[in-house]
Amino acid sequence: MGGLSPLFAPDRVAVVGATERPGSVGRALVENLADFDGEVVPVNPNYETVCGLPARDRVGDTDADLAVVAVPASAVLDVVREAGEAGIRHVVVISAGFGEAGGEGAARERDLIALADEYDLNVVGPNSLGVIGTPVGLNATFAPRAAPAGSISFLSQSGAFVTAVLDWAADHGVGFKDVVSLGNKAVLDEADFVASWGDDEGTDVIVGYLESVEDGRRFVEVAREVTPETPVVVVKSGRTEAGAQAASSHTGAMAGQDRAAAAGFREAGVVRVDTVQELFDAARVLAGQPVPETDGVAVVTNAGGPGVMATDAVGDAPLSLAEFGNHTLERLRDRLPEGANVYNPVDVIGDADNERLCAAVDAVLDDDAVGSAVVIAAPTATLDYGDLAADVADLQARHGVPVTTCLMGGERARSAEDALDAAGIPNYFDPARAVGSLGILSRYREIRERERAEPTTYDVDREAARDVLERAGERGATRLGVEAMPLLDAYGIPTPAGEVVDSPVDALAVAERIGDPVVMKIVSPDILHKSDIGGVKVGVAHEDVYDAFEDLVTRARNYQPDATILGVQVQEMVETESGVETIAGTNRDPQFGPLVLFGLGGVFVEVMEDTALRLAPLAESEARAMLDEIQAAPLLSGARGRDPVDEPAVTEALARLSQLVTDFPAILELDVNPLVARPDGVQAVDLRLTLDPDTL
Ligand code: ADP
Ligand code: MG
Repeated sequence: MGGLSPLFAPDRVAVVGATERPGSVGRALVENLADFDGEVVPVNPNYETVCGLPARDRVGDTDADLAVVAVPASAVLDVVREAGEAGIRHVVVISAGFGEAGGEGAARERDLIALADEYDLNVVGPNSLGVIGTPVGLNATFAPRAAPAGSISFLSQSGAFVTAVLDWAADHGVGFKDVVSLGNKAVLDEADFVASWGDDEGTDVIVGYLESVEDGRRFVEVAREVTPETPVVVVKSGRTEAGAQAASSHTGAMAGQDRAAAAGFREAGVVRVDTVQELFDAARVLAGQPVPETDGVAVVTNAGGPGVMATDAVGDAPLSLAEFGNHTLERLRDRLPEGANVYNPVDVIGDADNERLCAAVDAVLDDDAVGSAVVIAAPTATLDYGDLAADVADLQARHGVPVTTCLMGGERARSAEDALDAAGIPNYFDPARAVGSLGILSRYREIRERERAEPTTYDVDREAARDVLERAGERGATRLGVEAMPLLDAYGIPTPAGEVVDSPVDALAVAERIGDPVVMKIVSPDILHKSDIGGVKVGVAHEDVYDAFEDLVTRARNYQPDATILGVQVQEMVETESGVETIAGTNRDPQFGPLVLFGLGGVFVEVMEDTALRLAPLAESEARAMLDEIQAAPLLSGARGRDPVDEPAVTEALARLSQLVTDFPAILELDVNPLVARPDGVQAVDLRLTLDPDTL
């Protein structure tokens, strides 16, 4: 697995800071390495031997290929330098007292990064719990419990979480190949391990617990290559961080860091789950079961209630209840007694024995409409869970169709679990979880099968757009409004005719040119929401243009006496009745870069928060998917007898906007709100953006 493999499968490990002091990290490390297939060399000048192993004075004398460092923070840099000098390329820094400690620690972390650069070191941590590689019995952590062996590789930003998971996994049939506690991620981060495990034969599933993503764009690039072959499942904490940034646009307010991460994971084909339980449910089923060929699920049960629960759960997952073919129905009728239900969910009824239940399972697994199946049983006198588990495992293997089970109960269920674990079939008490796991398989199937579309690029007038931004930059403007509409024109996003004027006379002249009535808006960088202060007048007849002009300026002055007023925009009136006011916006996430947002727009945009978010630049197919993703999608496709809006035009506007924000890093946030979507096209009637003049 490329360059990082010595971290998990070294030949010789130096433990720097090894000691016999009871309760110390240095001692726990040496003790945990007792089962290591390779050699362990304690490093501590104060000891001849540590736990019976001959010790060395210096890391430079160990000839190790991995150094695990657990010395006080102030001594770490010297150790790492010495390791680098001695040609040790892989270093795990357990010691804390770096970036997480601030001040001096942060400076120390920068020096560590510089050292890693200088000696080309693969450094884990600092502030890491350590690394585990089960194939060679490596437990270079100070966790109290070793990892059971398996094919899941696990990265965690939290060391405490690693210890908890290892403790739990041992009792739940979850086995690991490699485990890394990332610590502060000074050098190696999640992307490095995803890339590395993506090439690793022994890793069937990559699982991550993340609190942040170090370099989102790079993570997406890397993970996108890995996920079609090796599933990556991530739980990211911090979902509900309240208004992470002080945003000055709707898009900025709604496209916070967590949603940016969600967009990035989606783009990367990472399966994101919400809870730790789901994380390992997903890992277990992905490691143990094949990927289904269709979304149709068969439910076979000996009890009605749990069958209903499973059926409900099918509706909550990207699954459907499979419709059996005639042949299957005949087979079921043949084998099941009067009173049984041969339709999905199949109920073999309470007096069923193993043979009857398995005959039904066999029949449904044979059906092409069945992509996966869940076998549910309540304990009865006629069923033997031990035999049933073995039979279901056989059937699953024979048909090659993914199965989860729900053999409910306590002691009796546990008697079945060994056979199921051995077959990689997850067993749950809760039917909804058994179905949820099949749902994960279906989500992964979609990821594996999706076509990777290249971002669409359009013929645009980039120079004209640059001109608009540069002129704004020259006058020191950072907040632009409708006066910057030519920016949208340059990128081929339809806008109504309009002009910003600074006198009533000019206003009337423009109105006479573009229509009657017109719309008039105050133009001021100090007024974010024009209509909030009565700064938008819709349907202004020519004879009212003078009054409207004066009134708009007065309102602006009343609102903020020293507001900068650039003038009044006179704009062509757009017919909005037949359309839907949507929002199209862009934002820039520090980790994931430019983003595009689409949703229901107008004045209630933040109240509704009905939006979809993607990384820019967008392929048209992805832009199109955003329209379907929002809850208000039926409004666009023509609810209640309305004509559907021009969805290709909306799609194209989004993709063009994504090109704009990709081309100009100086555009920090941008809202087109509303983008009026009508049956005959789109019109961007309002614009607001924040500019970073230094990036121009
Ligand atoms: P703001 O968002 O600053 O309040 P907008 O320019 O978005 O100002 O205008 C507010 C509302 O006025 C829009 O949501 C839309 O309903 C209506 N509106 C604005 N411009 C036009 C126009 N050219 N034609 C028709 N309606 C418009
Ligand atoms: Mg608006």
